[in-house]
Amino acid sequence: MLVTTVPPLIERLRLVVGSHAILTSPSDLLVYECDGFTIEKNKPDVVVFPTSTDQVVQIVKICRELEVPFLPRGAGTSLAGGCLPVGGGVVIALTRMKRVLEVNCRDRYAVVEPGVVNKWLTEHLRALTQPGSPLFHFAPDPSSQGACTIGGNAATNSGGPHTLKYGVTVNHVLGLELVLPDGQVVQTGGAAEDHPGYDLTGVIVGSEGTFGITTKLCVRLTRNPEAYRTLLGVFETVDDATNTISDIIGAGIIPGALEMLDQLILQAVEAAYHFGFPLDAGAVLIMEVDGLEAGLDADTERIIEIARKNRTREVRRANTEAERLLLWKARKNAFGAVGRLAPSYCTQDGVVPRTKLPYILREIHRIGEKYQLRICNVFHAGDGNIHPIVLFDERHEDQVKRVLSASREILEECLKCGGSVTGEHGIGVEKINFMPKLFSSEDLMMMSRLRSAFNPDGRCSPGKMFPTAGACIEPSKAGRRAAL
Ligand SMILES: Cc1cc2nc3c(=O)[nH]c(=O)nc-3n(C[C@H](O)[C@H](O)[C@H](O)COP(=O)(O)OP(=O)(O)OC[C@H]3O[C@@H](n4cnc5c(N)ncnc54)[C@H](O)[C@@H]3O)c2cc1C
Repeated sequence: MLVTTVPPLIERLRLVVGSHAILTSPSDLLVYECDGFTIEKNKPDVVVFPTSTDQVVQIVKICRELEVPFLPRGAGTSLAGGCLPVGGGVVIALTRMKRVLEVNCRDRYAVVEPGVVNKWLTEHLRALTQPGSPLFHFAPDPSSQGACTIGGNAATNSGGPHTLKYGVTVNHVLGLELVLPDGQVVQTGGAAEDHPGYDLTGVIVGSEGTFGITTKLCVRLTRNPEAYRTLLGVFETVDDATNTISDIIGAGIIPGALEMLDQLILQAVEAAYHFGFPLDAGAVLIMEVDGLEAGLDADTERIIEIARKNRTREVRRANTEAERLLLWKARKNAFGAVGRLAPSYCTQDGVVPRTKLPYILREIHRIGEKYQLRICNVFHAGDGNIHPIVLFDERHEDQVKRVLSASREILEECLKCGGSVTGEHGIGVEKINFMPKLFSSEDLMMMSRLRSAFNPDGRCSPGKMFPTAGACIEPSKAGRRAAL
């Protein structure tokens, strides 16, 4: 039983990382009982903060020997419960492995430790660049990029506003160092393009920590665009805004980003950041084109024309870089403003074909009314990646039940539209029950066999992604649901 192994476990882990890098008190562990998905909670038995690959190896070997489950964790911003310590065990927090180990702008790659915060890398590159030299950045830009780690981005294959043009994290990870659940260290890919053999890097990215612990990443650096044009389209209705999105892509324009905010989220964002958003608008679109200066004005005019055809009330331009950055600040901090609307929220992450956006947003509205819940929307509209934010108070059991039912219905509607139940947040624990709806039993068996090749005992990140994952792990204590 895990319970009897806990004291030797903690003593041995302390010897590896030192007393300053281990948490065991109930109040400290409370922080690690969930991530951004706050509906399911469970405290780990211990949290450790390794600072090197070698320490990770030793931790994993101890867990293996004592038959204790373990779970990698970055910044804990996952919105799907990927960091939920199902059944307790050891949380291996990678946030102290935060060094940028190498930067090579000529070959366009950097090597980083997994705890490097997404935004730090781009800031680090800017600081290294001589005046007049080209600037580079790390392209995946989740809205949480000021907090989330590159290790977490790779584990969840994160997207972001600029995913529409630049692709998701897997397109920007060239190679990895992975500590397998038995303590072996493997390297995949590397700085050079097109490695022979299986694309194991591509397999590991998006595996949500179920294959092992990433301890180093070689990532692609992208040259900054020469110029941007950033527009704010104001619409009376969500329908007009979403039809504009399909029409822009249908016209053959691939903007750098195409984001939508509806009236409710606009009110919260405006109260927080005072950007000057029109509070009576049904929705706004942030539309950005980027690339070589030549041609951007033509694309901008075409976008304005398409917005007009869809009855836009006005299209504002960001006239300076400061205005552009303020607009993006308002968008990327939108989730932070949600606290003004409700004490708790649950963010859904569905995908629909772009032309179904008007339909799915009407459905979200209907489902909100059915369950008497307020739902606001801010999302990567160009990808058809919706993020309805369901507002509630987790102290009320009835509200939690209604949130779960409404969330399920929204995702089922996405599936009916030919979409998916996650665009970027992953499956975690939240969406496990949708997996059999998305995949055949043969597909699931294939994935489960792949997981077993890396993680045969299911000891690393048990209870994630698949209904049966980690079934052999005996929980040390039952988890709980908010207010349930
Ligand atoms: C306000 C807000 C906005 C967000 N916006 C976006 C967005 O625009 N796009 C988007 O894609 N996501 C978004 N997210 C979700 C989340 O930020 C991303 O999934 C992010 O990549 C998670 O990074 P993290 O460091 O917080 O990882 P964590 O939450 O700590 O972990 C996420 C998963 O990765 C695993 N993991 C973490 N580190 C490692 C490692 N080193 N090795 C192996 N597995 C590991 C964990 O076990 C877990 O399963 C948002 C979240 C919030 C709170």
